[in-house]
Amino acid sequence: MVIWPDERLHDPVSPFPEEHLGSKLVRNTAGAMIRSMYKHYGVGLAAPQAGVPFQIFVMDAFWTQEGNKKKPRVFLNPKITGVGEYVTELPHPGEGCLSFPYDHRAPVQRHDRVELEWLDFKGNTHHQWFDGYESIVIQHEFDHLLGFCYIDRLSPLKKDMALRRARKMRRAYRNGMRGTVKMFKKMQNGPEAVVNRNKRFEAGTPQAKLRRAAKKHKEGIENGTITTDIPSGDSEVVDSRPSSRVSEEARGLVQREDARGDSQRVQLPVSDQDQEGDERAS
Ligand SMILES: [Zn+2]
Repeated sequence: MVIWPDERLHDPVSPFPEEHLGSKLVRNTAGAMIRSMYKHYGVGLAAPQAGVPFQIFVMDAFWTQEGNKKKPRVFLNPKITGVGEYVTELPHPGEGCLSFPYDHRAPVQRHDRVELEWLDFKGNTHHQWFDGYESIVIQHEFDHLLGFCYIDRLSPLKKDMALRRARKMRRAYRNGMRGTVKMFKKMQNGPEAVVNRNKRFEAGTPQAKLRRAAKKHKEGIENGTITTDIPSGDSEVVDSRPSSRVSEEARGLVQREDARGDSQRVQLPVSDQDQEGDERAS
C-alpha cells in the first residue's frame, strides 16, 4: 500500500496501452489489487495506491455491509462521462482512504450520480450510471488516477488541518509516542472506524454511531429522501474544489495529459507486496 505523503499518490497515471489489454499481467495486477483492498478492509483501491502506473481501479462498495459477500469490480481506463444533478457527501466523519492510515476522515462534496465509461479485460467498452455510495467511491478512486487524494477536495483550511494532523500522527508513530497516537485515534473515532468494519461495536460508541449514520445515508439515497439543496450548476461544485482542472477533467471537458511520458516503460507489479509496515516505520 502506498501511503501518504508518497509522491506516487500525486502522479497522474496513463491509460493502459492497447497491447496490454487481455494480457495475464493485467489480470494479475487486478487480482493483486482486489486482494489488497479486502485485506485492508477497503471498498476501493486505485492504481497509484498500489504502485501501478496505469489507469485501473477496483471497487466493492458494499461487501462489508452485505454479509461479506464479495463482488469485486475492475475498471480499466475509466472516464466520467456524465454527472448527476446534485452534490452529496458522506455524513461525519466522512470519507477515509487506505493511503491515510492515520484514519483522517472528512465529508467531501461529490456528485450524487456519475456515469462511467471503462474497458474490461478484453478491451470492450462499458457504460453505467452509479449512484449513492458507489458514486462516491468511484469519484474517490477516479481522483486517485488523476493524482488527487480526497483531502485535495477539502477547503484550504480543512486541508491544512488534516495535513497537520496527519504529519503529527506520522511523527508520533515514528517516535513511538503511544500516548499521542492514542489521543489522535480517539479524536478521529479510532482506526476501527475504517479498518475494522466487520467488528461489532457497542451501541453508543462513535463507531456504532458512524455505522448507523452511514447505513441511514445509504438508505436515504436509495429511497430518494437524501438530496442536497445545492443545485448542480457546476459553479458550486467547481468552486469548492482546489483545482478546477479536476472537475473539468472529471467531466471530460479537457484531455488529461500524461504527466509521466516514461510511465509506459515501468513494469507492472504482479505480486501483492505489502509494504505498509516498512513505509510506516521508515
Ligand atoms: Zn483513497
